[in-house]
Amino acid sequence: MFVREDAVAKEIRSVKQLLAGKGGVIHSVSPDTSVFKALSVMAEQDIGAVLVFDAGKVVGILTERDYARKGIITGRSSKDTPVGDLMTRNVVFATPEHTVEQCMALMSDGDFRHLPVMENSKLIGILSMRDLVREIISHQRHVIADLRRDMITVLTPDPSSY
Ligand code: AMP
Repeated sequence: MFVREDAVAKEIRSVKQLLAGKGGVIHSVSPDTSVFKALSVMAEQDIGAVLVFDAGKVVGILTERDYARKGIITGRSSKDTPVGDLMTRNVVFATPEHTVEQCMALMSDGDFRHLPVMENSKLIGILSMRDLVREIISHQRHVIADLRRDMITVLTPDPSSY
């Protein structure tokens, strides 16, 4: 299908622009923090994941799903379980050069919904699947609105042409 280039009014924003819109706050815990405390941080901040730092380095990520699948189900108490026991150690990162579509692909291929972004070995933020889906939907709304306007222009006869 041929889509006119000028029909797309608003480009999908870059990873950096998306992070800037989020305020750049990164919530983190240490591997020794209790899972209960980490879950409290997630509840307070209305987020689904925290990064795990040790000696200034990212050593893992803990999400609500880790607790649901490795904590509750095995009968472990969140107050007595350290984050280090449930976190995922091999964290997949994006860089500011990744597009939103590439970030989506990383999440989809890895079957997770959180993507920390690294720039020059420095963590600059975390994107969630929700951030990416919102951006794509907003972009599609713009495209649809533009196409509608184009259709109305084509279908509405110019009275001066009578
Ligand atoms: P999520 O869907 O983000 O709740 O995560 C599902 C699983 O993938 C959990 O075990 C997480 O610890 C893990 N996970 C989440 N984000 C990442 C990531 N960026 N890199 C590696 N593992 C992750």
